Amino acid sequence: MSLRPTLETRQAVPTMEGAGVKLHRAFGFQDPSELDPFLLFDDFRNERPEDYQAGFPWHPHRGIETITYVLSGSVEHTDSLGNTGTLGAGDVQWMTAGSGILHQEMPKGNGAGQMHGFQLWGNLPSDQKMTTPRYQDVQSKEIPGVTDDDGTTVRVIVGEFWGKTGPVDGIAADPQYLDIQVPAGVRKTFRIDTYRRAFAYVFQGQAAFADASQPTGVLLEKEVAGQEVNIRDLSGDRTLVRFGTGDEVTVQAGPEGVRFLLISGAPIDEPVAWHGPIVMNTRAELELAFKELRNGTFIRAAH
Ligand code: MN
Repeated sequence: MSLRPTLETRQAVPTMEGAGVKLHRAFGFQDPSELDPFLLFDDFRNERPEDYQAGFPWHPHRGIETITYVLSGSVEHTDSLGNTGTLGAGDVQWMTAGSGILHQEMPKGNGAGQMHGFQLWGNLPSDQKMTTPRYQDVQSKEIPGVTDDDGTTVRVIVGEFWGKTGPVDGIAADPQYLDIQVPAGVRKTFRIDTYRRAFAYVFQGQAAFADASQPTGVLLEKEVAGQEVNIRDLSGDRTLVRFGTGDEVTVQAGPEGVRFLLISGAPIDEPVAWHGPIVMNTRAELELAFKELRNGTFIRAAH
């Protein structure tokens, strides 16, 4: 067993997207090899309708997958192929854009005006960039949960974990997407196969993610449930933790516990040509996509 070092921890950055939606971007539009096969991660948790209701009107995607996970509120979705639906609290939409879709995503919030959720972009390998578009709409009740003796709970959205298999299947990047809650003071180790690139995104409470250079993971400053935690090392809300190579990660939950996403996948390791919502391998493929958008041939007939 070897612990994955934390290569980097950073705060998500306030960003405006769509028709004026406030969100926090943990990564995206930077060196795409860093977290290959993942391209972008947006945290669109907002408390006020005016910060999100303009939504994400009609826009294209090609060459990627977008994965939307709603925590509270709802998102209405409509696309050019005639698909339509609503994602509610706890639901996931795994959209394989493949050869191309035009869609709109409109956050609606809940009764209290709150809209909480995340969107991840996964890359597709060259031989699947132009695959037929596909949706996997997963309702909250279809997502298996598992609870350990120490109170740690994991929702398994994609991949296999602790004997449960997530309902989303057959994705090229072989992703694992887990929503994990670790109670206050609990120290927990999670296995992640060495070939995967991995990151965590904290969205509730705080935790220390041990670094291989500090085998105990923490330094004495404050005791939490018998564990010694350097409070300065705790990662809180909206922190991205990028892991290096190894086969497990260790989490030391802070005094309020922690909830975070733990996401990993197999790197695709191909050239990336990226402009806005379209991600291809070459500049020529990008230019073709934008030419097709202009002349109305972007959407392939169903086959
Ligand atoms: Mn979109």
